[in-house]
Amino acid sequence: MVEKVTYAVGDRVDKFCAKCQEERGHIVASVTKRGMISRVSCPKCGARSSFKPAGGVRTSSSSTKASAPYDRTRTYRTAQHLTHSMFGPGEVTAVIEPQKIDVLFSDRVRRLVHSQSQA
Ligand SMILES: [Zn+2]
Repeated sequence: MVEKVTYAVGDRVDKFCAKCQEERGHIVASVTKRGMISRVSCPKCGARSSFKPAGGVRTSSSSTKASAPYDRTRTYRTAQHLTHSMFGPGEVTAVIEPQKIDVLFSDRVRRLVHSQSQA
C-alpha cells in the first residue's frame, strides 16, 4: 500500500538530532511546495536542521525510555517525558503558562494543563 505522505509546518517527525545526540520527535519548520519536509527544528535544543527523507528516518519511534504517566497535578518542565492515556508518549516542548504546557505527541503538539491542584 502506497500512501502519499505530505507534511505541513508544525507536524512532527522523528529525526536524529546531532546536537542532542539522540533521536527525537522534531517539529517541521518548513516544507516545499510538494509537501516535502525541507527543515525541521529540535524541540529540545532548538537546533534547526535540513531534513533528508532518505536514511536515518523512522516514522515510528523505537522504544524509548519509559516515561511516567501524565499527571495534571504535576508540574512539568520543558523536555520532560510523559505518557498520556489517550495520546501516548510525549515530550514537553514548552511551558506556555504556569498551568499550561505544549506536549509533542506522535502525531502533533497538544496543549495540556499541568500544575493543577488536586480536587
Ligand atoms: Zn536537539
